[in-house]
Amino acid sequence: MKIGILGYGNLGRGVECAIRQNPDAVLSAVFTRRNPADVKILTEGVPVLSVDDAEKMKDEIDVLIICGGSATDLPVQTPKYAQYFNVIDSFDTHAKIPEHFANVDNSAKKGGKTAIISVGWDPGMFSLARMYANAILTDGCDYTFWGRGVSQGHSDAIRRIDGVVDARQYTVPVKEAVDAVRAGENPALTTRQKHTRECYVVAEDGADLAKIEREIKTMPNYFTDYDTTVYFISEEELKANHSAIPHGGSVIRSGKTGMNGENGHVIEYSLKLDSNPEFTASVLVAYARAVCRMNKEGMTGCKTVFDVPPAYLSAMSGEELRKKLL
Ligand code: NAP
Repeated sequence: MKIGILGYGNLGRGVECAIRQNPDAVLSAVFTRRNPADVKILTEGVPVLSVDDAEKMKDEIDVLIICGGSATDLPVQTPKYAQYFNVIDSFDTHAKIPEHFANVDNSAKKGGKTAIISVGWDPGMFSLARMYANAILTDGCDYTFWGRGVSQGHSDAIRRIDGVVDARQYTVPVKEAVDAVRAGENPALTTRQKHTRECYVVAEDGADLAKIEREIKTMPNYFTDYDTTVYFISEEELKANHSAIPHGGSVIRSGKTGMNGENGHVIEYSLKLDSNPEFTASVLVAYARAVCRMNKEGMTGCKTVFDVPPAYLSAMSGEELRKKLL
């Protein structure tokens, strides 16, 4: 499959790396809104082009992986390009997925193309884990724990505070809560009981540290509902110890079966990721394979991970899958 990458940030670079690990995939072009001459990619011989040239390449690309940000890029980019290309995105603003789905569906159907939105780990692999577990254990409770990992959104929110030079925010699951869930106790947990937040902050010389700490801890939506710890560190320390983008977490469902619910079961799917964007990119490339197959079979419009037959993700044939993995 000939792949185009639209938007070259952490995720775009991750897709470029993932393509190298998939022999049936080849990178045809990278499209950027910046001056293409300023965007240096890792693969020799592949053109970096302006997004304005993307439509001209529509017959040379099997699937366009759209790697813009969820906040403002994807709501515009995915509907725009879904009429010209089969597309995949990693849109992760959960509350706005229905609206995004409708916009992309409309556009993909117009062009006879196939789109899969909200692909990655959450939404993505975690959504599938929740769906499978709910279908199987119909009488039960769902839990999702995130971390320990870097939340880009929370790190950005801290960086916007006056006197802050840079910051990294880790979301950390509360061990006692995870243990109780894994033990099948079905605890009722508040937001505060599930996760804590750790902030590593580089402040300007002479900044009022107590004021910065207070502003972080009282920030509505981001920190007020959590126990938050703030550490002030130097720029060198941030670079040395906090420049990676790890993440992960667990989706757990515990449920009961039997005439009187006498038997308990726990299903857990868990991820430990050294690099959030590189893992997300690997999921995107597997779904690129599926989108090509679905389009060839005439399934057009917008889809999500729920609509994709699992075998369509794999480079193995049905025969190989039945022999090796069933
Ligand atoms: P990012 O690095 O900020 O890149 C976003 C866009 O910003 C790029 O497409 C790029 O577009 C532009 N950009 C990147 N570096 C730039 C620079 N130095 N100067 C100017 N512009 C630059 O974001 P990301 O880490 O790749 O993440 C993208 C999205 O993926 C996130 O918003 C998140 O919602 C989503 N995500 C989803 C999941 C999931 O599980 N579903 C997991 C992780 C991330 P141009 O090349 O056009 O300029």
